[in-house]
Amino acid sequence: MPRVFNFSAGPATLPEAVLRQAQAEMLDWHGLGASIVEISHRSAEFMQVAERADADLRTLLAIPDSHVVLYLSGGATTQQALIALNFAGAGQTADYVVSGHWSKTAIRQAAPYVAVNIAASSEEDRFRSLPGREGWRLSPDAAYVHITANETIHGVEYRTTPEVGDVPLFADFSSSIASEPLDVAKYGLIYAGAQKNLGPVGISVVIVRRELLERSGQHRAEIFDYRAHAARDSMLNTPPTWNWYMLGLTVRWMLEQGGVDEFARRNAEKAALLYATIDAGDGFYRNEIEASVRSRMNVPFFLHDPALDAMFLAESRAAGLMALKGHKAVGGMRASLYNAMPVEGVRALVDFMRDFQARHG
Ligand code: PMP
Repeated sequence: MPRVFNFSAGPATLPEAVLRQAQAEMLDWHGLGASIVEISHRSAEFMQVAERADADLRTLLAIPDSHVVLYLSGGATTQQALIALNFAGAGQTADYVVSGHWSKTAIRQAAPYVAVNIAASSEEDRFRSLPGREGWRLSPDAAYVHITANETIHGVEYRTTPEVGDVPLFADFSSSIASEPLDVAKYGLIYAGAQKNLGPVGISVVIVRRELLERSGQHRAEIFDYRAHAARDSMLNTPPTWNWYMLGLTVRWMLEQGGVDEFARRNAEKAALLYATIDAGDGFYRNEIEASVRSRMNVPFFLHDPALDAMFLAESRAAGLMALKGHKAVGGMRASLYNAMPVEGVRALVDFMRDFQARHG
């Protein structure tokens, strides 16, 4: 059974080399006689795996010493609540820029703990653009400014880091982390669920400026306290060892492939190929996002006649192209082009799209 090209938004395709290594090591990790997920998280063997993953992630993302990395169970959604508890006083204002579905989720999770100020929103434009920085109404006393670096469902992405002055910038990078070089120092906090570019679902990475951990935040249990997790190197309780191990393999693979510079190049090539095919279709295909903020990771598109959708999905699946159905909030199609998607996968997709158009256009 050959592997298909899997365009799922997440959980998403993983590098075949990583899956094969995990398979080879599953029963016996490096002569241990047991799997890495059958042993204590405090064992020398697992500590070695965890420390290497951390060192490699720091190298991959060029994370400065000013920032600490937490490896936490709970998804990105959990972090959306925890950032409010950890960094804002009860009822303190936090600024949110709304650019799509995931920005709204972030607000819903934080709303019980902070006074949410919607600094800007592109909802009136049905999230086909990003709110221009000049129109943001930031609060001088905000605990943080929150943005969603890439909107996985709506397909819009910040192509530059917005300047927000002295208030720390917090960003949800779940669906674009490690897709291109990133100036971590510009952010107070970056969080990402692993299940797009960093490995399988089950672990989140939180990259936070150390000095922010001194904020008292709000009354909370120790298990919700980032400072406590940082003090125990993310081993306050049993971490998701399988996911940490898989994240380590995935990060190592990205370094071996040439790091984020190389992935930026590949991702630009893949996105250009797909958007060019959509735009060249004389209206047969359509992507409505303002060109300057089109996501390189998640490309939603529509067929001119929705009556063709079911056939497009069935035929693409038969051609070995999996999971192209769009999110129900948007409809149509969506192709996710994360780091593990090879350019050959996008070539196969655009060949299929041209052929489908020739037959049905
Ligand atoms: N933020 C973004 C940008 C996402 O794409 C997702 C999941 N697709 C989430 C947050 C939520 O992540 P989780 O399901 O891991 O909580």
